[in-house]
Amino acid sequence: MIIDVHTHINNYHEDKILPLQEGLGRLLNAMAENSVDYSLILTSYKVNEHRPSVKAVTEATRDMNNIGVVAGISYLHYKERDLREISDFLKDGLIKGLKLYPGYEPFYPHDKRMQVVYELATEFDVPVMFHSGDTYSPKGKIRFSHPLHIDDVAVDFPDLKIVICHVGNPWIRDCMEVVYKNKNVFADFSGLVLGDFSDKFEKYMKGQLEEMILYAGEPEYLLYGTDWPISTMKSYLNFMKQLDLPDDKKEMIYWKNAAKLFKIDTSKFSSKTDQPKTSEAIVK
Ligand SMILES: [Zn+2]
Repeated sequence: MIIDVHTHINNYHEDKILPLQEGLGRLLNAMAENSVDYSLILTSYKVNEHRPSVKAVTEATRDMNNIGVVAGISYLHYKERDLREISDFLKDGLIKGLKLYPGYEPFYPHDKRMQVVYELATEFDVPVMFHSGDTYSPKGKIRFSHPLHIDDVAVDFPDLKIVICHVGNPWIRDCMEVVYKNKNVFADFSGLVLGDFSDKFEKYMKGQLEEMILYAGEPEYLLYGTDWPISTMKSYLNFMKQLDLPDDKKEMIYWKNAAKLFKIDTSKFSSKTDQPKTSEAIVK
C-alpha cells in the first residue's frame, strides 16, 4: 500500500490554462501507473486560473476514496471568511490538514497571525504542513523557511501535529533535530528533485535520510510524499527501494504513519481492478 502525502494539481508551466479536471485526471493516471493507493492534494496559498481554490478541489474530489485535500492558507491574504470556510470543511471531514508556505510568503511559523490557524488545527486534530527549505522560486525568502523556526510552534502548541515538508532540504540536520526533540513533529521527503533523481544525488539523499533515521530513531515520523508533478512518482518509488531499511520500517513510511496521522480510512481503498477509469474519461 502507498499513500503519497504531498501532491499538487497546480499548473506550474503557466503558459496555458489547465482545467482543474485535467490536472486531477493526470494525477489519477500517475497514481494508477505507479500503483499509488491514495494521494493528498495540497492547495496553494494563491488562488488564480492556474491554482484552484480549496473549495474547487474539495468539490471535485469529494466522492473519491483515493484522494484527500489539504487546504493551503495564505499568511498575507487570509480573511476571517476563509477561516470560517475551512472550519466548515473540517467539520464536514472534507479536508485532512492545513498547509502554510513560509519562504514563499514572508513570515516565520511562530508569527502571531498564524496562532488562530494552529488553534483551528488542534481543535479538529488535523496536521499543519509547512513548506520548508529551498523555494522552487528565486523570489522566495529562505530565512523564513528554515525548519528550525518550526520548533517554536511545536513547543508552544504541544497538541498540534506538524509536518515539515521536504525534510527542510537542504537543512536536513536541523529538521532531524526538530523531529527528534518534538513528539508532535513529522516530516515528508517530497520535492527533493525536479523530475528524476540523478544517480549521484539519489545516493547523497539516501545517505541523508539514513542519517536522519539513525539520529532520530524508529521512523514513525517519516512520511512518503513526492511533490508530484514537480518530482516524478516513479523516481520516488525507485528511491524508496534504495533505502537500506527493513520492510516493516518501509511500510511505516509508505503508508502506516500517514494513515494514522491524517486519519485515512484505508479499508475504503478500492482494489486496482474496480477503480473507475475516471481519469481517462476526464482528460478526454
Ligand atoms: Zn509541494
